[in-house]
Amino acid sequence: MTEKQAQELPELNIGVVGHIDHGKTTLLNKLTGKFADTHSEELKRGITIKLGYADTKIYKQGDNYNISREGEAVRYVSFIDAPGHEMLMATMLSGAALIDAAVLVIAANEGIKPQTKEHFMALQAKGIKNLIIVQNKIDLVSKEQAMENYKEIKEFVKGTKAEDAPIIPISAQQGINIEKLLETLCSLEIPKRDKNSEPIFVIARSFDINKPGTKITNVKGGVLGGILKKGVLKVGDEIEIKPGLDVEKAHQQYFETINTKIISLHKGNEQVEEVYPGASISIETSLDNTLTKTDSLTGCLASTKGNLPEITYNTKISSELFNKVLGMQKDKEVEDIKPGEMLMLSINTAISVGTVKKIDKQGNLEMNLTIPIVPIKGDNVGLARNINNHWRLIGFGEIIE
Ligand code: GDP
Ligand code: MG
Repeated sequence: MTEKQAQELPELNIGVVGHIDHGKTTLLNKLTGKFADTHSEELKRGITIKLGYADTKIYKQGDNYNISREGEAVRYVSFIDAPGHEMLMATMLSGAALIDAAVLVIAANEGIKPQTKEHFMALQAKGIKNLIIVQNKIDLVSKEQAMENYKEIKEFVKGTKAEDAPIIPISAQQGINIEKLLETLCSLEIPKRDKNSEPIFVIARSFDINKPGTKITNVKGGVLGGILKKGVLKVGDEIEIKPGLDVEKAHQQYFETINTKIISLHKGNEQVEEVYPGASISIETSLDNTLTKTDSLTGCLASTKGNLPEITYNTKISSELFNKVLGMQKDKEVEDIKPGEMLMLSINTAISVGTVKKIDKQGNLEMNLTIPIVPIKGDNVGLARNINNHWRLIGFGEIIE
């Protein structure tokens, strides 16, 4: 029997979140045999600033789940390593827009920390219901401490949608109990994917993959990395990218839709002819590399030509506020949103900033944006407020129009 291609396997996109130094990157490395931080900058700076990616096939032999190709491939998983730094909440939210489920890493020797709470609440706000909790660094604690930590976690999730989330004791560093996590990942339900609608591709990263000095005849086109939320994309498709190119003409700044063509499609190490919803992929386009380098198109959406809504600077969104501001050391109540105040919106992988023009009794906001968005009705919006020079998540909503 030949091995199943990634394409033929049930696929999940998993976010890995949790407090800094609790072991996210180490765990990802164990789960995939790869560093998530393979893309340039992060490695040098030692922190996963932009979203890091790694993917793996999980195999099953009898009752044993593994990534070492024993038995039959049963699932294809793409992991997104969320950054741990407090400034990067916006990036964490971008990541949450891409995932089907999340692994929350909590170091057993440190317990619940501010970012554990912040990431947990952000996942809830983003509607990520499927959660696996990893109790990491189990090698550093006694049995009693592990039990204490387990109780602390149980108390923490009590009364939330994640109340019954599995809690798996692990040592990422020593490779203890990783199989149990693989097995649990394989037991998660695959969300329903919408194959029949127009494609929506969320761009998380964009690259120039050519090495300096590549011969002109060997030059590859600009590459987009992200997730196909809906629909199907094929090699040869003409696509459009919005908001697109940020241009300045006669001192006026505006955005120009980018039109291009799909040259090739890549899933992990495999090249494929077409991709289905839920797929984490890279798209080689016919674009000039200067347009895609250093994540210049992160935050954009792509679809087949003519199928994205017009960009807008005016939007209406619903809002639901948290009781407490997320990510603060000291608890702080969330005050009501007032007309005239500035908010940061996080929609898919895009970030925008705008002023509240009006707010009605239901909490629906009319916003005037400084960066345009592609308004897709029903898309989730993270709402952040600037408090002492940090954007803090205060609630979430949905695009109404
Ligand atoms: P991240 O910031 O959450 O991505 O954390 P890292 O994966 O970078 O890990 C932070 C530190 O904790 C590193 O020095 C790891 O070697 C260490 N570490 C991660 N997992 C474990 C574990 O299970 N046991 C022990 N003892 N150390 C760990
Ligand atoms: Mg890390």
